[in-house]
Amino acid sequence: MRLARRPVGDVGPDDWEHVTEAAAAPGAGRFAGRTRYISLDPAMRGWLDDRPSYLPPVGIGEVMRAASIVEVTESDHPDFQVGDLVTGAFGVQERVVSDGRGALKIDPAAASPSTYLGALGMPGLTAYFGLLDVGALKDGDTVVVSGAAGAVGSMVGQIAKAKGCRVIGIAGGAEKCALLTGELGFDAAIDYRTENVRKALRTHAPDGIDVYFDNVGGDVLDAALANLARHARVVICGAISQYNTTTGVQGPANYLALLVARARMEGFVIFDYAPRFTEAAREIGGWIAAGRIKVLEHVVKGTVDDFPATLQMLFRGENTGKLVLELD
Ligand code: NDP
Repeated sequence: MRLARRPVGDVGPDDWEHVTEAAAAPGAGRFAGRTRYISLDPAMRGWLDDRPSYLPPVGIGEVMRAASIVEVTESDHPDFQVGDLVTGAFGVQERVVSDGRGALKIDPAAASPSTYLGALGMPGLTAYFGLLDVGALKDGDTVVVSGAAGAVGSMVGQIAKAKGCRVIGIAGGAEKCALLTGELGFDAAIDYRTENVRKALRTHAPDGIDVYFDNVGGDVLDAALANLARHARVVICGAISQYNTTTGVQGPANYLALLVARARMEGFVIFDYAPRFTEAAREIGGWIAAGRIKVLEHVVKGTVDDFPATLQMLFRGENTGKLVLELD
C-alpha cells in the first residue's frame, strides 16, 4: 500500500495506491516473511504531512510506514529462522524482506502475537513511560486520561490503578465509559460527547487533577487545565482531535492555569525510551500475567486493501483498545 498523494483533512481512499509486485527473494544476510498483523496508529496521520516532525514524512509512492508482525518464510540471516514471528517497522505490505535491522523476535508462547503491537508494544510502553516518567506518578495521585478506551489510554488507566491511584477516564460514548468503570476498574468515566467535561471533572476530582495524560487535545485539554491540583503534571502524549485539521491546531486557551497551579506540561516521544523498553515490557507482562491489566484489542480481519478504511476507524472512535489489521 503506497501513499499516492498527501491528504488534506481526513484521509480518503484516493490517497492510497495498492500496487502488486512479485515478492523479492531474501538474498544473503536477509530474511523474507509474510505479514500477519499490521498496527494502525493515530501517528500515521502526521507521517503523511510534508512537514518536519520526529520522523521524516512518508514519501509519495513509498510503502506506508507501519509496525507489524511478520512470520519468517525464508531466511539467510543467522538470527532469524523459518517460522519465527518478528516485529518491526515493516510497512503496509503482504510480503517483507528485511536485513533484520530494527526487527525483534517475539515469543508467541508468552502472549498472542498482536499483544506485541499493543499492551506489550508501542502503546503499552507509551503509557508506561508517559505516566511514570513524564507524569512522575506518585502515591495517592488523582489521574485523568483522555482517549481512555484506546490502546494507550486503557493502559495508562490500568497502570495507574495497579499503582494504587484514583483514575478517571474520558472517552466517547456510554459503552466505552461502562467498560472503563466495569471491566477495567477505573473509578469514574466521563463521556465527552454528551457531558460537560469541565464540570464532570470538578465532580469526580474535587481536589484537582495531579496527572492529566492527554491523548486528544482540543476542548478536552482545556477542560482538564481548568481542574489542575497544585504541582500537577500535564503529559502531552498526543492530540488526535487536531490531526485532521485544515484550519490550524487549536492550542490550549487555558494555559495560564499552569501558572496558577504551579504545574508543568511536557511532551514526549516514546522512541527516546528505547534503551528501557525491555525492562518496561517485563513489568507490563507481569501485570498482565497477574490479572492486574486487561489487554484490550480490536482486531479487524482483512487484506492490505482494508488498511485505508481501518485507519479511519481511529478518527471516528470505532475502535476499543488497540486497533490491528489481521491479514487473511
Ligand atoms: P486509540 O486506540 O486511543 O484510538 C484513537 C481514539 O481517539 C479513538 O478510539 C477515539 O476514541 C479517540 N478520538 C478520535 N477522534 C477524537 C476526537 N476528535 N476527540 C477526542 N477523541 C477522539 O489510539 P492510540 O492509543 O494508538 O493513540 C492515542 C494517542 O497517543 C494518540 O494521540 C497518539 O498520537 C498518541 N501516541 C503518542 C505517542 C508518543 O510517543 N507521544 C506514541 C503512541 C501514541 P473515543 O471513542 O473515545 O473518541
